[in-house]
Amino acid sequence: MNPTLSSPLRDVVGGKTAKAFETGLDLRTVADLLRHYPRRYAERGVLTPLSDLREDEYVTVQAEIARVDARKMRNRRGTLVEVVVTDGRAQLRLTFFNQSWRASQLRPGQRGLFAGKVGSFNGRRQLTNPQTQLLDEEAGAEESMLTGLLPVYPATAALPSWRVAKAIRIVLEVVDIDEDPLPEDLRNRHDLLPLREALRLIHLPDSFAQVERAQRRLKWDEAFVLQVALAQSRAMFASQPATPRQPKAGGLLDEFDRRLPFVLTAGQQQVSADILADLGRSHPMHRLLQGEVGSGKTVVALRAMLAVVDSGGQAALLAPTEVLAQQHVRTLRQLLGPLAQAGELGAAEVATRVALLTGSQGAKARRENLLDAASGAAGIVVGTHALLEEHVQFADLGLVVVDEQHRFGVEQRDALRAKGSAPPHVLVMTATPIPRTVAMTVYGDLETSELKELPLGRAPIATQVVALVDHPHWIDRVWERIGEEVANGRQAYVVCPRIDPDSTEDDGEDPDEERAAAAAVSDVAPMLANGPLAAVRVEQLHGRLPADAKDDVMRRFTNGEIDVLVATTVIEVGVDVPNATVMVVLDADRFGVSQLHQLRGRIGRGTHEGLCLLVTTAAAETPARERVDGVANTLDGFALARLDLEQRREGDVLGASQSGARSSLRLLKLLRDEDVIVAARSEASELVAADPLLADHPALWAAVRELVDTERAEYLEKA
Ligand code: ADP
Ligand code: MG
Repeated sequence: MNPTLSSPLRDVVGGKTAKAFETGLDLRTVADLLRHYPRRYAERGVLTPLSDLREDEYVTVQAEIARVDARKMRNRRGTLVEVVVTDGRAQLRLTFFNQSWRASQLRPGQRGLFAGKVGSFNGRRQLTNPQTQLLDEEAGAEESMLTGLLPVYPATAALPSWRVAKAIRIVLEVVDIDEDPLPEDLRNRHDLLPLREALRLIHLPDSFAQVERAQRRLKWDEAFVLQVALAQSRAMFASQPATPRQPKAGGLLDEFDRRLPFVLTAGQQQVSADILADLGRSHPMHRLLQGEVGSGKTVVALRAMLAVVDSGGQAALLAPTEVLAQQHVRTLRQLLGPLAQAGELGAAEVATRVALLTGSQGAKARRENLLDAASGAAGIVVGTHALLEEHVQFADLGLVVVDEQHRFGVEQRDALRAKGSAPPHVLVMTATPIPRTVAMTVYGDLETSELKELPLGRAPIATQVVALVDHPHWIDRVWERIGEEVANGRQAYVVCPRIDPDSTEDDGEDPDEERAAAAAVSDVAPMLANGPLAAVRVEQLHGRLPADAKDDVMRRFTNGEIDVLVATTVIEVGVDVPNATVMVVLDADRFGVSQLHQLRGRIGRGTHEGLCLLVTTAAAETPARERVDGVANTLDGFALARLDLEQRREGDVLGASQSGARSSLRLLKLLRDEDVIVAARSEASELVAADPLLADHPALWAAVRELVDTERAEYLEKA
C-alpha cells in the first residue's frame, strides 16, 4: 500500500532523514512535510541580489563563482579555501576551513546554491563553511526541476533547502492523495485545484502562475477548515438552551436610564437594543462588542447586566488585570449610585450590589464577596482570573461579560460559562478595534457589534512625537508642560516600559531586549519628585505593588489627590479619570501601536483638551519610529489596528489564545486575503447548516478534528 498524508515520514524517506526533519523542523508526517511550503522561488539562473543580505540571517543564495583561492592558514594548522561569488554586481565571500577539496570542486563560472548564516569579517559579508549545491550537479533531478522554478524552503544548517526539496520530490512521487477536505462542488464554484495537484504545483512549479494557483487553493484549505470549525461551534451554541432574560418595568435598567446624566449615542442605542433582543432569546447570546477607545462600551455592557439582574439573574464581568477589575467596580458603582447600594443606608428602592473577586484580596473581603456571589446578593460580580476558580459560585449566572478579550483564551471563557446552571449569555468586549477579517477569524464564533462614534462633546487629543535624538533638551520642556497643566488643576500620566532598572520582566512589550534599558518607573518617579516636578504630588503605579496599594493609588488619583502618576501599562485599559489631560509615554517606541493608542485613550475623556507626548530616542525612518509616528498621525483606531497587524508576524495577529489556529495558518494572510476568508466563511456556514456533523465529508471532518485537537493540545501545553 502506498503511503498517505498521515503516514510517518520514516516510511517514505528513511529513518535517518526522517529524524533530521523531526529534530530540525518539527515535521513528522507526510502531510507535515508537504505543508512545509517554499518560502520563495528562485528562477533558475536568476542570481540572488547579494547586497540585500542581512547579517545573522540564514540564507540560501543562487550565485556565480568569481574566484577560488586556497592557502594554508597563517596562525593555525590547516587550510583555508576562500571563494568569492557574485550576482553580477555585489560580491559575497565564502570561507571554507579545512575543506581543501573545495578548491578543485568549485570553479569560476559555475553557478550554485550556497546556504549559511551571514556573518562578517573585516567589515565584509561572508558565509563560513556554507552548504553548497552546484546547479549542474543535480544528477537525477527530475526534468521539471531543471526547467522550472527552484523552491527555496525555510531551512536549517543541517537541512539546507535542496535537501528539503529532494525529500519532497521523493514523497510526491509515492504518496496517494485521494482525499480532499474541500468538497468538489465547492472547488468547482471557486475554481480551485484538487489537493493533489495543488501540493505538486506548490513544490514543483514551472511558472509563477502555477505557484499562485496552488497557493490560492491551499489558502482556501486553511480558511475553510478554520471557518467550518467556527461554524460548528456557533451551531453548537445556538442549539443550547438558555434562560431568556428580560428587564422588568420599573426595574434596575429603567431606573438606571432615568438617572443617566448623558444621552446614549445612536450607536450605543442600536447595539444595546441588539443585545437586549439576544438576551431575551432562549439560546445563549455570543456577541462581540468592539469599539473605539472611549466610545462608551462600559455603559452598553452595564445595561445588559442590569437587564439580566432585573430578570433575577446575575452578571459576571471578567477583567484582565487587577487594576482594571478594581477600576470597573469603581466605575460601575459610580454609574449606579444608590442602585448599587442594596442593604446599605440610602439605597434606592430597587438596588443590587457589585462584588469584587481578585487573587490578592484579603481573606475577609474575599469571603464576603464569595458569599454575595453565591447567595445572589450581588447582581454583578467583577473579577480577574480569580473568578474562574472552582469554588467561586453563583446563585444564577445569566450573563458573562469578558472585557479586553484578547488576553483571555476561549477555554477561559468556557470555564466561566460552565458556572451557570444553564449556559449563560456571553458578551465579549475588545479593547481595540480590529479589522473585519481578523474578527471573523479570531472571534469567528461570535456575532459582532461595533460602536463607531465617540460621544459628543469629547475634547480633542493632540499627539506629538518628542524625538530626543534630534533635540535631547526637549525632555525638559515635557516636564514643564506637565507642571503647567497641573497648575491649571489638571492631572498627568507618565508611562514607562519598565518597573525598575533591573527588571527583565516588565509590564510592557519589549521587542528587543538587547537595547539600552528603557525608562523605569522606580527611576523616573523620584527623579521627577526631586527635580522638575518637586512642587507637585507624584506617585507610582505598577503591577508589582500589592493589590490594596494599587487600589489606593488609583483612588487617590481619581479623587485628584495625586497630580502625576508614573506608571507602567497597568493603566493601559479601562482607567477613566476625565481630569487627566496629559499623557507622556517614555521610550514610546518600546510599545506596540495598539498599546500606544490604548494608552492615549486614557486622556481626552473629559471636556479638557488632551495632550499626548510620545518620547522616543529612535532615529527617524526606523520601524520603531514609524510605529510612533503612525500613532501620532491618526486617532482612527481601525487604521492603527491595521498598521499594528501589518507590523506583526501572522501568528501574533491571532494572539496567544488562538494557538491552534495560528499554527494552521501558513499561507493565509488575514489582512490581505479578505476575499478568501469572507467566501470561506459563507461556504462553511452553509455546509455546516446542511451537514452539522460533517458525516458526508470525511476528509473535511478529519481536517477539522486535527485543527481542534492541535488547538487543545497547545492550550494544555501552555497551561
Ligand atoms: P470604552 O469604550 O473605552 O470602554 P467607556 O465606556 O469607558 O469607553 O466610556 C468613556 C467615557 O465616556 C466614560 O467616562 C463614560 O461614562 C462616558 N460616556 C459613555 N457614553 C457616553 C455618552 N453617550 N455621552 C457622554 N459620555 C459618555
Ligand atoms: Mg472600557
